[in-house]
Amino acid sequence: MTSFNLRRVKLRPGEQLHDELEVELPAFEFGGQRYVPVPEQVPAELEVTRATTGTVFSLRFRARLHGPCYRCLGDAVLELPIEAREYQDSVPEDEQMTTPYLVGDELDVSAWARDAVALALPDKILCRPECAGLCPVCGENLNDRPHTHDETEPDPRWAALEALRDDR
Ligand SMILES: [Zn+2]
Ligand SMILES: [Zn+2]
Repeated sequence: MTSFNLRRVKLRPGEQLHDELEVELPAFEFGGQRYVPVPEQVPAELEVTRATTGTVFSLRFRARLHGPCYRCLGDAVLELPIEAREYQDSVPEDEQMTTPYLVGDELDVSAWARDAVALALPDKILCRPECAGLCPVCGENLNDRPHTHDETEPDPRWAALEALRDDR
């Protein structure tokens, strides 16, 4: 787990601290499928800015997830540039002015990074935006072999029966 201890940070209003750290990302379950971060550890930039009434935290990193395409089940790679921001009021009066990732002096960067990636996931993870998916009739991958089925095309089994009848 990556966390950042604020005890050693002494900032005056307007001052900013910049730190680079490594965050480990978990695998994500999404739409019943599993998406694995490659690499699991990514470099992240953390900025802590002291404002007059509180502290602003910002976190930046890139996540790359590998998993199955929603339409064709082929390999999909998702690149997610993440930019997240949290705010902690010096005198927190309501929950909106606090960040859930700050516990005491510890900022839980791992939990924050994981939630930020989960929030950035698109509705559907596709191998490419125009993925044609699988054929609903025969199940073949339409990206590899684009085709359609003729609705009136006779079933080959019926054709065989027809042939038998003609032979009589
Ligand atoms: Zn696909
Ligand atoms: Zn087909």
